[in-house]
Amino acid sequence: MDFNPGLKIGETIDNKRLCEIFKCSTQGGMRRSLKTNTLVLVSNHVKSIYDDRWIGERFHYTGMGTIGDQSRSSGQNRTLDQSGTNGVNVHLFEVDRKGEYIYQGPVRLADNPYQEEQPDEEGNNRKVWVFPLELVSGNRVPVSKSEFTVAQQSRERKAKRLDAAELAKRAKAARPKAGQRSVVSVEYERDPHVAAYAKLRANGRCQLCLNPAPFHNKAGEPYLETHHLEWLAKGGEDTPANTVALCPNCHRRMHVLDDPADIEKLRVILNGESHT
Ligand SMILES: [Zn+2]
Ligand SMILES: [Zn+2]
Repeated sequence: MDFNPGLKIGETIDNKRLCEIFKCSTQGGMRRSLKTNTLVLVSNHVKSIYDDRWIGERFHYTGMGTIGDQSRSSGQNRTLDQSGTNGVNVHLFEVDRKGEYIYQGPVRLADNPYQEEQPDEEGNNRKVWVFPLELVSGNRVPVSKSEFTVAQQSRERKAKRLDAAELAKRAKAARPKAGQRSVVSVEYERDPHVAAYAKLRANGRCQLCLNPAPFHNKAGEPYLETHHLEWLAKGGEDTPANTVALCPNCHRRMHVLDDPADIEKLRVILNGESHT
């Protein structure tokens, strides 16, 4: 009899609730519960040293064992390896924000597990077992754009803490094929007249550094990008009074720094133009 956790696919729960439902341990990436006859897989994209990733519709899940070569036949790796025949129901959660467990639903082995090299907890390369899984029903739940970005940044911060030799070693050992996640983001429908008008006003020059556009597009127009001083995502308005035209360099600068001095400078320029 299959265990029904009573969760909707895509539902987010905390760790306490997860353990109450599945009657499993509060820790670990592979949590076996004899009471519910389940194996709960938790893929933590924020914290984990493992390289779990989606490729197409398959989730490539790294087995247990944080130090040294992993064994296919021990612990819960064995449970997962034999889940096609041992009757244990496997359920997958992904974590993109600390403490939030997104339920992806029941999964099953889609193919034979395979070995690959991944660094262990101490940074030494070792062999892990990777289990290709597929969702039993339905589609995977996309991650929100902001959570995806935060998780990615946290992994990049970790990478930056490595010394140069270790970083070079891992960069060279990286899988050539990038993992894929489905990401949902909110896009704004911007008024084309506001954007075109901002570029017209800029007259081919970046309004921050005042240099000519760095290149012309295929239509022969100076290439500039429009930017909202108060970001649309933060409630800013899509109006000429809030829109500037910038070179790609300065545009990126605004997004990385959002420096009040830059914003003030641009406001002065916009005001000056509206009075002439
Ligand atoms: Zn510029
Ligand atoms: Zn912008």
